[in-house]
Amino acid sequence: MPGFAKLFRLIKKIFLTVYIFAASAVFIFLTATDFFVRHKGDGYFGIALFFLIVLFIIVFFRRIIPVLYPSFSPPSLKNDYEFILVLINVLYFVINVTDQSVFNLEPLLYLFVTFALFFMPSRTGIFAVLVIFVQELLICFFSTRYSLTVFLGHTIFIALFGLLYYLLSYFERVRNRAILKSQINREVYEYREKIKDYRLVTSQNAEEIDRDAFLQATVMSIEESFKLEFSIIKNLLGLNTLALFLYDESKKRLKPVYHLSDYSENLIDEKIDADSGLFSAVINSKEPIVVNSEDRSIRGQVYYKKAMKIKSFIGANVCERIRDIVLLRGIIIADRTEQPFTDEHRRIFSMLSDFIGSYVQTQRLLHNITVEREQKAKFFEASRRFNDALTLEQVMEASVESAKVISGAISDIIITLPDGENSLRQKFVFIHSENENIKKYEGKTIKDNSPVIKLVAEHRIKFPTKDFKGDITSIYGEQYRIEGISSIKVLPLITRGDALIGTFAVCTRNGLFLNEEETYMLETMSNILAISIENGIVVKKINDLATTDGLTGLFNHRVFQEKMDEVIARANRSQGRFSLALTDIDFFKKINDTYGHPVGDKVLKGLSALLKKMARETDIVARYGGEEFAIIMEGTDEQGAYTFGERIRKEVEKLVFDGGEKTFGITISMGIATFFLDANQKKELIGCADQALYYSKKNGRNQVWNYHRIKEKST
Ligand code: GH3
Ligand code: MG
Ligand code: MG
Repeated sequence: MPGFAKLFRLIKKIFLTVYIFAASAVFIFLTATDFFVRHKGDGYFGIALFFLIVLFIIVFFRRIIPVLYPSFSPPSLKNDYEFILVLINVLYFVINVTDQSVFNLEPLLYLFVTFALFFMPSRTGIFAVLVIFVQELLICFFSTRYSLTVFLGHTIFIALFGLLYYLLSYFERVRNRAILKSQINREVYEYREKIKDYRLVTSQNAEEIDRDAFLQATVMSIEESFKLEFSIIKNLLGLNTLALFLYDESKKRLKPVYHLSDYSENLIDEKIDADSGLFSAVINSKEPIVVNSEDRSIRGQVYYKKAMKIKSFIGANVCERIRDIVLLRGIIIADRTEQPFTDEHRRIFSMLSDFIGSYVQTQRLLHNITVEREQKAKFFEASRRFNDALTLEQVMEASVESAKVISGAISDIIITLPDGENSLRQKFVFIHSENENIKKYEGKTIKDNSPVIKLVAEHRIKFPTKDFKGDITSIYGEQYRIEGISSIKVLPLITRGDALIGTFAVCTRNGLFLNEEETYMLETMSNILAISIENGIVVKKINDLATTDGLTGLFNHRVFQEKMDEVIARANRSQGRFSLALTDIDFFKKINDTYGHPVGDKVLKGLSALLKKMARETDIVARYGGEEFAIIMEGTDEQGAYTFGERIRKEVEKLVFDGGEKTFGITISMGIATFFLDANQKKELIGCADQALYYSKKNGRNQVWNYHRIKEKST
């Protein structure tokens, strides 16, 4: 059946064409022989008029429908010829019938020639002049109404008229082309200068770009900048479609980014395989390529949904040139339904693609500058957070702030440091997380065989590695699962001395991920973090040296005095009570004498460990003097302090020390003074406690006495 339909269409086509040309010839002859003048009003006139109207209707549809619905059937040159032929017939008919009786309608002819030259391809204009010439010649030959002078006058006038218009429009086109050329050249020059200014052409690695962001920015700026140029070129070259595609190298596809087309709705708006159809021909050719087809059946129109009847296709690569390297960035293509593209078009296209190439390059460089600048600013901001961080706590807080500056996607931060001397046994020292269960891991030690510690702390490998396929939530071991995360990155913390001190991990949640730049910044940040932690550890050591006693690890006398000031200030503000206990080991000299100084030291260590263990978290235990200790008990009255002192005294009695040949025990004496009750000044309060201690000693040792009880007794 389709074969039959095709045959039918062919017959129809041939019939219509033959009919139009034959009928037109007859009408030309009738006009020339004054048929319409002679038969005005009779039956023959009516029949001729009917055929003329039918002719006009056929041609009208053949010419107007393609203009209104181009995708149905593109306007063709043949239809232009038919249209002109029939219109001229109609014009002569009108002129003939009116016969200058109303007024001279001949200027209609000039108007018509002007129209044909101006709005139709130049060849149809020449055709119109020729037809008019033949008609005039025939009239002159057959009709008595025309003298030779009238004929010559008419034809010369029309020919001159036509020529003048043709020349005018030709020069206009040449002029526009020249303007466009110089405009393109100037802009190319300006962009080249800009690139030179930024001196970046040589320092760019073209592969290191964020493709999506770049593409987005480029497409937007291309649209803005090229709207005018594209429309000038499209109109100037009589293009049906002019389209720009950018190349996605990883996927070998071309993405449509901008177009001007008479058939927009027929254009494909998805990415197109670069190896397909005409696109592969364009991509594989260094120079712009032209494909012409006499019967308008160009194959491989991959950019149209439905193949169009195009006569000529042109396409050129859009490339970036960095020294000798040529990088394909896209293609620009165009087509025409009527006339083939020539070498001139090839040159224009080559220029256009160069121009866009430079433009894309400039855009990319500018984009890179912006990204780099933003990165630097971010990084500066992130590393600045570490500047003021001195203590480990401050460093940990800075790591959170810094990570959040780098990426808002970061939700959890986990820092582990060695638990003791062995760096392979790591401890969660800091956890920042919205999940309370995860925060609870803080302070816990990770088992030796935790896979992440093996990887990161032992082998210094950044985790996850490319081939990691397991469950990321259990990388610290089953008992320390990090539920709900989308990604984790664990980095080794390596110090200036190239020693590993711990691990640093960041997690994201809610399906967010870190991009390459952010990951890179984090890696650099982890180095700063490692150094800051190292510094923090040193600061802590110095601090400990200055504040704690080397033998017992308790606060030293200086800190005791400072803490007393603080506690008194607080007590004065809140009118709260606090008690101070001073203790002294009984007959300690004897221990030293009997067992030696080192054993005496062990006794001091053992006693301070006991005091530390028994004291509450808010109590302050300090080494007051040689074998004298002080305990500041906030919020504790005289009774509470006494009870506590007695408990300690009894526990001390139970201590057993190794004296070499035999074991021995110790006792302590204690004096307690309570703030406000016994004194309201530091010096006085210490004096009271000291007096109470002295009383305990004098009263037989191994006793606890409150200062106020001694006073009560003596009065
Ligand atoms: P008392 O019951 O009266 O307190 O008798 P005592 O022998 O304990 O007398 P005192 O408190 O005056 O003794 C202080 C002794 O403690 C003197 C010193 O030899 C010893 N001592 C002080 N500091 C240290 C230390 O760091 N290590 C050791 N092994 N002994 C110390
Ligand atoms: Mg003493
Ligand atoms: Mg003593």
